[in-house]
Amino acid sequence: MRPSVLTPLFASAQALTGVGPRLLALLKKAVRLPPGISEPRVVDLLWHVPTGVIDRRSEPGLALAVPGTIATFAVRVLKHKAPPPGVAKAPYKVTCEDETGRIDLIFFHAERRFVERQLPVGSTRYISGRVERYGDTLQMVHPDYIVPPEARADLPMLEPVYPLTAGLSGKILLKLMRQAVERVPELPEWQEPRWLKARGWPSFGEAIRRLHVPQEPDEVSPAAPHWQRLAYDELLAGQIALALVRQSFKAQRGRPIVGDGRIRKQLLAALPFALTPSQSKALREIEADMAAPTRMLRLLQGDVGSGKTAVALISMAIAVEAGAQAALMAPTEVLARQHVETIGPLAEKAGVRVALLTGREKGKTRAEILERLARGDIDILVGTHALFQPDVVFKDLAFAVIDEQHRFGVHQRLALQTKGGNGSADVLVMTATPIPRTLLMTHYGDLDVSRLTEKPAGRKPVITTLVSTERLEEVVDGLRRAVSEGAQVYWVCPLIEGNGASELAAAQERHAHLTQVLGPVVGLLHGAMPGRVKDATMAAFAEGKLRVLVSTTVIEVGVNVPNATIMVIEHAERFGLAQLHQLRGRVGRGQRQSYCVLLYKPPLGETAQERLKMMRETEDGFLIAEKDLELRGGGEVLGARQSGMPEFRIANVPNFEELLAAARDDARLLLHTDPHLTSTRGAAIRNLLYLFECDDAVRLFRAA
Ligand code: ADP
Ligand code: MG
Repeated sequence: MRPSVLTPLFASAQALTGVGPRLLALLKKAVRLPPGISEPRVVDLLWHVPTGVIDRRSEPGLALAVPGTIATFAVRVLKHKAPPPGVAKAPYKVTCEDETGRIDLIFFHAERRFVERQLPVGSTRYISGRVERYGDTLQMVHPDYIVPPEARADLPMLEPVYPLTAGLSGKILLKLMRQAVERVPELPEWQEPRWLKARGWPSFGEAIRRLHVPQEPDEVSPAAPHWQRLAYDELLAGQIALALVRQSFKAQRGRPIVGDGRIRKQLLAALPFALTPSQSKALREIEADMAAPTRMLRLLQGDVGSGKTAVALISMAIAVEAGAQAALMAPTEVLARQHVETIGPLAEKAGVRVALLTGREKGKTRAEILERLARGDIDILVGTHALFQPDVVFKDLAFAVIDEQHRFGVHQRLALQTKGGNGSADVLVMTATPIPRTLLMTHYGDLDVSRLTEKPAGRKPVITTLVSTERLEEVVDGLRRAVSEGAQVYWVCPLIEGNGASELAAAQERHAHLTQVLGPVVGLLHGAMPGRVKDATMAAFAEGKLRVLVSTTVIEVGVNVPNATIMVIEHAERFGLAQLHQLRGRVGRGQRQSYCVLLYKPPLGETAQERLKMMRETEDGFLIAEKDLELRGGGEVLGARQSGMPEFRIANVPNFEELLAAARDDARLLLHTDPHLTSTRGAAIRNLLYLFECDDAVRLFRAA
């Protein structure tokens, strides 16, 4: 249970004065929410960090006002001049003065009564905004703030600027932020006082206040002490959570799983290829982990197309040889199905029974699968997150493989781990995201890692070109030729941030366009399609009935159609490098020469240009990931938002690697000296964990 002291922060944003359903919907658009949260809460506002600051502190008096700058004045209202009737374009003018001069406040399309109410003749008002010179008069068009003397304090002399959305003004958000900050309770300090002192960091409450109510313009910076503190808080929470997961893993007794090699031998004989050296090495590492009496938790990192599936299959065979069961979990139905299709026939030859369980197996079919699973009549169960449902009970789950794991949250990982009858299943996590070492640590902690470093033999490099959208028709012409010569094409439509509907519309439009040019050989795949239609479309493409597959980014992960040799990505500049890399990995899987066309919309910024050039120059996923990290800086890497990887809320700071290393050491030491978080600091740390929503980790540790 979350400590009640944090309750005000986890209330819906509707708890704030002025927030009704309409504003809530706008906040939902503007503010980033963690996975599984659909309604913005107060805490989500607090993590919505400002990107800049407007300095209104200059109060020069009208005579000394500098045109073009933002300033604040105390003025007396002299007179109103409404536009003559019928002249819609003429502005409404209000003339004001102070002891030193005059200024005209200008309102276009103003509602007369509104202006009159705001600026009654004869009253004193504080106004703030950009001053301009118009002929020889001073003017201010639509002042940002007009407040009476008694509300002077409402005028933010340093106004933080936030990312907004259409319909949500900075002014409204600012008011909400102030309320949100007021709700932050005094919390016992969870950081070491000595560490805080050495760094010059304030308390948590003070830090979050500073974040939203800056006292100096340069405080709105990730380098500022309060910002650094919050970043460290987040990193520390993450590191402690990961350490707790590890600790609980170690606390559970594993069991040695040793197979006799009989099934593996058959599988290796049935595979149409020999394993690459790194596949064999990974298998040896997995085999050793499984044979050990401790629980295995290993990450298998391998670029797209490096052959992780074969490694998964053969290692699952070890569990089956030992008389137990294995599970393979994929992030999407399409992938789960594809896994069954590739694994199934091979497994069958070796006498291994494979079944599929996704959200679509329902009713009798599902009941039957569950029954066979519980009886032990299924050796390998492949599926989606449907594998997590509480009624899915294995007879004896010894080994679980989680594919493309970055799509899953920590919660789900933990849920699968407890599935093993005695909580002892070994876990192999597979990811195609070439995560740089530092990030690996952030998101996975100190996992054991196997890497597939070379691509299977016989692969040709993909030829990548950058083409401006202005030449789209030429590209389509080229496709027509290629398709008539038997090529198959992926066409990925642009990613439209936070807007599934227009993303879909774009894909539908492109599909219609290409069908017109190429004939009825163009399929469409998007996230909102029912699973069956998706599968049918994928199958038609895999069989070559469809020559072109237009899709939103749903094909990003894992799909395997070796005959597809052309990948076109529209608005490539909007994708993260890692995502482009993954998409490109869909082609170049067969013997034929493959191509990747990155369509971009000019003009490209310098960074965008550099990123796309990088794609042209290398296919090394690790290199690309490092470059991505370098270009984007901090933790906003790997197209995290698009790929569903956990993102930082505030730790996107330039020196995050340094803070991360410190947080890791801190977490280790803490759990070493206080494994049950019973010290004073330990108790305070629990607040920290809940604050950053590492609830699962806390639960874990309580169970221990
Ligand atoms: P990923 O690592 O992206 O999941 P897959 O497991 O889907 O990659 O493998 C990609 C393709 O490479 C598949 O068609 C698979 O059959 C093939 N493959 C896997 N290992 C080898 C190998 N050692 N030699 C040749 N082809 C291989
Ligand atoms: Mg795969």
